[in-house]
Amino acid sequence: MTETITLTEPCNLCDGSQARLRFVKFGFQIVACTRCGLEFLYPMPDREAIRAFYDEGYFTGDPERRGYLDYVGERDTFLKSFSEKLDRLEKILHTRARAGKAGNRDGQIRMLDIGAAAGWCVEAAQKRGWDAAGLEVSSYAVAQARDRGLCVVHGDSLEPFADRTFDVITLWDALEHLRDPRSLLREACRMLAPDGVLAFSTGDVGHFWSRLQGRQHRIYNPPQHLFYFSRTSMTRMAIASGLRVLRIEPDEKVTTLHYVLHIARNLVDIPFLAKMFEFIMRVLPDWRVRMKLIDNLVVYCTPEPVGSAASSPQPDVATSYPR
Ligand SMILES: [Zn+2]
Repeated sequence: MTETITLTEPCNLCDGSQARLRFVKFGFQIVACTRCGLEFLYPMPDREAIRAFYDEGYFTGDPERRGYLDYVGERDTFLKSFSEKLDRLEKILHTRARAGKAGNRDGQIRMLDIGAAAGWCVEAAQKRGWDAAGLEVSSYAVAQARDRGLCVVHGDSLEPFADRTFDVITLWDALEHLRDPRSLLREACRMLAPDGVLAFSTGDVGHFWSRLQGRQHRIYNPPQHLFYFSRTSMTRMAIASGLRVLRIEPDEKVTTLHYVLHIARNLVDIPFLAKMFEFIMRVLPDWRVRMKLIDNLVVYCTPEPVGSAASSPQPDVATSYPR
């Protein structure tokens, strides 16, 4: 019989108050809202616990964190991967500009990367001439970014940012880490230029390939990942945040074989398989690999037009970043 849980805080998507237990992984309950089906970790860790989680070990292979293997050391690979993502974004901006739906007001694209880590996406954007900044909760990662002269703001709130500041806002595999994704997307929508584009990527638990893997899927990574979206729930979340979905496509990443094996080893809770991934990692070189991820989606959105919002003046980006 399925256990029904009365939630102490409402569902982040539909405000529903009940969920059913799906399964327990690493001692954490994964539940699904009985009204809208959104899956999430319950109970949620508090903000302090979330902040504390993203310490140095998260970025340097601590098996307890189940995070990155060597985030700083793999900079070149991340730069290539992010550069390709920005290529796609730039194409979307240009297509919209040609269609008269977006204008590049001062010739320079202004971007904010939320969950910027050590700032590799910010760096990739700067290399192509964009005015780019990041927001990151980890003080370790922010220090790495600042060592390289990258503008990454330390924090987990968008409140200090001015309205309609950015042409592009990105959240690469970040939404699932947030305690309140709907509020954050609403804030991001407020900060986007009326013709701006917000792109986020996250796992799709509703895909056939994800269902086949069940609880072994890498997206089920509590307490790092707090939400587990499907194509339907991520679309509904965007719409509930005031955004209009332009397109959804499978994610593509350039990464390293050892990182893929590191994630597989730490997220599978079958000891035999974990040992096997560890063995393969020991014997194979750390090749760079390209992955087309059918079970991780990129969602491109734009603010749903409201009233005469587009007529407000644009703030000076150089002075509008909180430092
Ligand atoms: Zn719900």
